[in-house]
Amino acid sequence: MSTASQDLDPETCKRLGDQLIRLGDMMGDGLHLEPDGKWISREYRQVAKALGYIKKEDRSARITEINRLMDKRTAQVKCRKCDGKLKQTRSGAKRAKCHKCESLWQLLK
Ligand SMILES: [Zn+2]
Repeated sequence: MSTASQDLDPETCKRLGDQLIRLGDMMGDGLHLEPDGKWISREYRQVAKALGYIKKEDRSARITEINRLMDKRTAQVKCRKCDGKLKQTRSGAKRAKCHKCESLWQLLK
């Protein structure tokens, strides 16, 4: 298993970690809700992303969304070659395979 944080050198990782805590404290005080405090939540998100915290969550949310859309599409669309039923190739994939002739179809962009 590899996360983005493992790609960072320990020093950067520590610096970002300290920064995240500091920003988290400020958000705990509600400073990010102030009119000029928008940068705090923005920076918090950037730092969390750099540390690999947010990326993982985003990815699984995106996959869930893709699967939901693909469920809908495969229910509506049939194979254009043989009219067979289409099935998503794998979780998170935007392509579906016909269960009869095994043609692949791109169902989402
Ligand atoms: Zn087919």
